[in-house]
Amino acid sequence: MSDQYAVIGNPVEHSLSPAIHAEFGRATGEDIAYGRILAPLDGFRTAALRFRDEGGRGLNITLPFKPEAWRLADSHSAGALVAGAVNALKFEGGRIAGHNTDGIGLARDLKDNLGCTVRGGRVLLMGAGGASYGVMEPLLRELPQSVVVANRTVEKAKALIGHFAKLASDLRVGRFTWLPYDRLTNDSFDIVINATSASLKDGMPPLPREVFAPGALAYDMVYGRDTPFMTFAAGCGARAADGLGMLVEQAAESFFIWRGVRPATGPVIRLLRQKGKRIKAKGGP
Ligand code: NAP
Repeated sequence: MSDQYAVIGNPVEHSLSPAIHAEFGRATGEDIAYGRILAPLDGFRTAALRFRDEGGRGLNITLPFKPEAWRLADSHSAGALVAGAVNALKFEGGRIAGHNTDGIGLARDLKDNLGCTVRGGRVLLMGAGGASYGVMEPLLRELPQSVVVANRTVEKAKALIGHFAKLASDLRVGRFTWLPYDRLTNDSFDIVINATSASLKDGMPPLPREVFAPGALAYDMVYGRDTPFMTFAAGCGARAADGLGMLVEQAAESFFIWRGVRPATGPVIRLLRQKGKRIKAKGGP
């Protein structure tokens, strides 16, 4: 029987992860089967352990279960530790290893697929939830000139900055701070990342037009169609991208953790775009 993997979440029915991993398996010759598990909101632990006990080898975790996945893991990779978040579990023997592949996914999509140089750039990161925690370390390691965080709930932006302040200082990132949305009018940025879930409800953060520097990249982690943020950014002259590439790149990193084989991502991104799997805006695995 094929080795079993799955994405677990609630909701999970629209996840593209099964299609992505099926392509990875086919392209690499790895004998895997990848499904989806809809867990009750109060039933993540039971569903994850049942899957493991029935022979499952690994899980991707999507909303709202990433904090519970962190607690289920016996050990955490360096990336998961610094992020404080887990989006991939590997079952090995009796142990459960927690990983975070979101940040690597974003960094690879920006650099390899979009040809975007983070080094020396000014970055605005909107949102202070699990995704922002996941991407911050790999983002800082690209050595941007500055990173500013804006979030609806200002206390959470402050906490995110506090969590990574030492790393930013060690890496000599010149400016690492938070600002409320209404105080962004005096700044402009080369990369504006929407790590909020506002696009899932056809909304967007209250962003002034001035934030986009000439030639800026506007990146929405949500994928599936042009979001209000992408449309707004394009109207301000920015280049807009959705999070499909990040999704495929984080999946490739999960595949590598599980199988020790790194699948090519470009063909899968192109295939998914061609297939027009644009049913509705989505985010996460
Ligand atoms: P989360 O922990 O629930 O955090 C959501 C964030 O969005 C919070 O900072 C929240 O602000 C903010 N927010 C929600 N609605 C808003 C609105 N109307 N205006 C302004 N801010 C709003 O979610 P997450 O795990 O960080 O995920 C964020 C998004 O990234 C989701 O859409 C997720 O699906 C997507 N994602 C995509 C990928 C990928 O591979 N492409 C990977 C991971 C995540 P408050 O703190 O004020 O509530």
